[in-house]
Amino acid sequence: MTLKCPVCGGQLKKDKIREDVWIDGELLVIDNLPAKVCLHCGESIVDYNTMKKIEKIIQKFKHKEIASTKFTAYEIDAMATALA
Ligand SMILES: [Zn+2]
Repeated sequence: MTLKCPVCGGQLKKDKIREDVWIDGELLVIDNLPAKVCLHCGESIVDYNTMKKIEKIIQKFKHKEIASTKFTAYEIDAMATALA
């Protein structure tokens, strides 16, 4: 099955992306996220589980339960397990 880009219908390629999220004036960087990137328009798509992990990190960050501002996808996995 070949997935198509929801924006332009272009071809998607597996890739690693970096997500920058501004929270209360502080930049949270999540690196090395598995994603699919459109070869045509550059739209990046992360799967549902990855998105949930990102949301969890953002919540923890907002509540000052974590202080670091840079994560890799691997650390998200470790933290999601530890915080569950
Ligand atoms: Zn596209």
